[in-house]
Amino acid sequence: MSLFNDLGRKVEELKQEVGNASDDEATHRCLECDTLLYADHDECPECGSTSILARSD
Ligand SMILES: [Zn+2]
Repeated sequence: MSLFNDLGRKVEELKQEVGNASDDEATHRCLECDTLLYADHDECPECGSTSILARSD
């Protein structure tokens, strides 16, 4: 039950992040396909790679 609540909140946070984010605000990047990510993903949503690099700047 609480898992669903946490998940729902996470989705809402992600939506807000995507809505507000620009390229400069991406925190992570996929090493395989160069997709910019705005949250810490275990896998790239584009190609499924687990080679996610946290951007240092
Ligand atoms: Zn990728």
